[in-house]
Amino acid sequence: MKRVHQRLLDWYETDGRHALPWRNTRNMYHIYLSEIMLQQTQVNRVRDEYYPQFLEKFPSLEALAKAPQEKVLGAWSGLGYYSRARNLHKTAQLVQTELPKTEKELLLLPGIGRYTASAICSFGHEQTIPVVDTNIARVIKRYFALLEPKEKLVWEKATTFVNAQAPRAHNLALMDLGSLVCLPKNPKCSECPLEVVCLGKEEPELYTQRKKTIYESLDLFYGICIKDGKIALELSKEKMYKDMLVLPRVEPLEDDFLTVFKHSYTKYRLQVHLYRLEEVDENFTWQALQTLEDAPISSLTKKALMCLDLS
Ligand code: SF4
Repeated sequence: MKRVHQRLLDWYETDGRHALPWRNTRNMYHIYLSEIMLQQTQVNRVRDEYYPQFLEKFPSLEALAKAPQEKVLGAWSGLGYYSRARNLHKTAQLVQTELPKTEKELLLLPGIGRYTASAICSFGHEQTIPVVDTNIARVIKRYFALLEPKEKLVWEKATTFVNAQAPRAHNLALMDLGSLVCLPKNPKCSECPLEVVCLGKEEPELYTQRKKTIYESLDLFYGICIKDGKIALELSKEKMYKDMLVLPRVEPLEDDFLTVFKHSYTKYRLQVHLYRLEEVDENFTWQALQTLEDAPISSLTKKALMCLDLS
């Protein structure tokens, strides 16, 4: 095992993604924020856009805790899965200045599951614990040749594999290996530091067959009502957009058609139709067009405004 661990660390030393900003800090808030953002969002988008912008607005847990929720949702706008931002905010308000240091305590906080808690403990405090995200799970399943294992078994195997001498680097190496080498399709086994001992290398894809996602097509219809440089938005009634501002829904209209665009959201493939609206009732919020950038609007609303060149 010692030699395998060393091979993995050597590979990480030369090929790992060391430049990611959250890997060059021991600021627990920064690490925590990156882990929450990286759930469901690509590394490049987090690194180049959202992570630096969010930290500029909320540089510490205290600053985040003091901010009104609409500002936090506004900074999250476009990232999707807004419950992440609401939970981040709630956690900041609960802990105020410092995150707990143990997995057990972290798990009691809103929006922190086993992966996030272990990532904070491993990457921030160098604790000897396993970390299992989608990429690491793929490596573990193949390395140990686990056919359709329960999640619990994957965590158990990851636990037996942790390198107690360098747990942080070991977990980061596995994460990068899954992301760069042990790919879902056509893994590059000949470049893999684990190849000599990997039990699944003959048929790697056998151990990580994915269920086919069934997509649902939907047509949605929204109205655009602008007066005096302000646009009519309403607080969403949908759970996934709780506390976010969205465009008014309308019935399909024959006249006043503006444009149509495509948008994807989880399993939904949407055709979004936009219409000009002359009037809305008084339940709407009038948002100045020049303040839209910081407003808590959904990515769908953002895209609609971009299509009309209003963002
Ligand atoms: S040898 Fe191939 S299947 Fe095994 S861990 Fe490496 S890339 Fe994945």
